Amino acid sequence: MATESSTQVPEASSCKFIGCSIKALPEDQWISAAEEACVENPANAPESQMLYQATDEVISPQHLALLTSKYWGKSGVRLTVSFLDDPEVLLRTRILSHMNAWAAFANVQFTEVPSSGQVRISREVDGYWSYLGTDIKSIRRNRATMNLESFSMDTPELEFKRVIRHETGHTLGFPHEHMRPEIVDQIDRKAAIDYFGRTQGWTPDQVIAQVLTPLNNAQIIRIGEADEESIMCYSLPAEIMEDNVAVLGGMDINASDGELAGRVYPLKDKNLV
Ligand SMILES: [Zn+2]
Repeated sequence: MATESSTQVPEASSCKFIGCSIKALPEDQWISAAEEACVENPANAPESQMLYQATDEVISPQHLALLTSKYWGKSGVRLTVSFLDDPEVLLRTRILSHMNAWAAFANVQFTEVPSSGQVRISREVDGYWSYLGTDIKSIRRNRATMNLESFSMDTPELEFKRVIRHETGHTLGFPHEHMRPEIVDQIDRKAAIDYFGRTQGWTPDQVIAQVLTPLNNAQIIRIGEADEESIMCYSLPAEIMEDNVAVLGGMDINASDGELAGRVYPLKDKNLV
């Protein structure tokens, strides 16, 4: 689904383009968080079939934890949301409305509460990020689970769609689509490390973690090939791609995102509710 045009790459616009990073828990929490994820949704456990295929080596608990998905239960997602910095009511409502855009496709609902929500949003100058799915349960209640750098009512509507729907996708447990092996294979590693170091201030290790480490088979649940226009896919400029063709990245929840979300969190039959 690559296209030939690279004109829509947001970096080319006059505003600063901020990339997203999935926040990882500290290593000493990996195993407990993986156990929690499997209690929440047993399907999060790494597939035994895949483990047999792996090797004869003993897979460490730490490694197993990394292979564990972080989706919520199949019965749907009901999460409360609060803000750590008391933004105006119009902004809070607008952010919630974009989080709930996923509800058109899946059984998910985000509800604002005055404080101590399960999802806690900050707007620090720290980029855009979220923890992944059930990992948010391991974050202390006074700490953010999602950061929307400097979001305000002046932020363009396109950014509300692109960023908030994307970060909410992480909160629902969806990883980055650009980490699919077929896309990672096309990235020039050195150029990527230079590019994200220059534009995002990321260290080489951060670039490796956020852009250059392909998802394993257990983490890929989207049907078919990588979707470069998924809301969960970064835009990647032509200069870091081996074939010199930009990956456009998603600007909104698209049909395949909706199908995936509806499969993970099936909508209830309205006639039965
Ligand atoms: Zn992201």
